[in-house]
Amino acid sequence: MTHSINRRAFLKRVGMSLGAVSLGVPRSALAALDPMTFGLCADVHQDVMHDAPERLTAFVDAMEARNARFIAQLGDFCVPKPANRAFLDIFNGFTGEHYHVLGNHDTDADNLTKKGYSQQETKKFWGMDGNAYSFVQGGIRFIAIDGNDPPGTGSTDYPRHVGSKQLTWLARELEGTSEPVIMLSHQSAENEEGLDNAGAVREVLERANDDAGYQRVLACFSGHHHLNYAASVKGIPYVQVNSMSYFWVGDTCENFAYSPETHARHPMLQFTAPYRDPIWTTVEVDPSAGEIRIAAMTSEWAGTPPDALGYESPPSRRRGMSPATDARTLPLAPPRPRR
Ligand SMILES: [Zn+2]
Repeated sequence: MTHSINRRAFLKRVGMSLGAVSLGVPRSALAALDPMTFGLCADVHQDVMHDAPERLTAFVDAMEARNARFIAQLGDFCVPKPANRAFLDIFNGFTGEHYHVLGNHDTDADNLTKKGYSQQETKKFWGMDGNAYSFVQGGIRFIAIDGNDPPGTGSTDYPRHVGSKQLTWLARELEGTSEPVIMLSHQSAENEEGLDNAGAVREVLERANDDAGYQRVLACFSGHHHLNYAASVKGIPYVQVNSMSYFWVGDTCENFAYSPETHARHPMLQFTAPYRDPIWTTVEVDPSAGEIRIAAMTSEWAGTPPDALGYESPPSRRRGMSPATDARTLPLAPPRPRR
């Protein structure tokens, strides 16, 4: 790609740091992308949420109606017990491709404590080959990573780590391919409660941008935090895909949004502030407009909102706390040259 190399050489000459500047994708590379829509959902939590099947059905139906190229779920989906087969079949019923990202709760025990199932069991149940993998859709390489590697610190908390072997794999995957990239992960590579070595992951992505000479990494989408915000680090947008179902308030309060019978059958529900309606993220890649657009969705809290419950948390945990997905536009095209 001579164009990019020249561009890079030019920028080096004028002393601009590629890592710090969002340059967009050269128009020649944009031309290789298909216009397409895809759907992302995260943190459906079938094993907590009483109406998760109805929520997932609404998502799959909406993506069919939008003619989405593919759908992906970003973890904390369901444990691999036979009773969850019907739930999984809703997702698998989507007529296009569908992809999975492993969450930290997808290997919980049936009583929702840690260390129930093995990752192998969950992957087999979901029909997933590798923990981390990549695929190309519409000219974009999507790279799904696994943030549940053991951190090697002896911590008994849920892991939120990308091990050195996987980091090497990620770097090679980027070096060995040339398409623009979107990364999918469960834990955020930007939020301080996300990946514990997020900086190392970001460095690999930033290096890919430097090597390409343009903003090759278009965006990173993650779940886990049940939040609705986006942030940019060194020109790379890190977009939160809100939970389909709820915000977790259990550390400090309880909430009874549904009937006593429902709460009796689903004992973890009381630790959530549920969203009245399911929330997901519809992403539209529009190369001719030079942008990626994320569609807005708005619901309400079912029951008492977290603040009215007296929910207290560090700011990082409540940034974008809302039963919604905000509309966002991520620019793809480089700024037009000044005359
Ligand atoms: Zn999670």
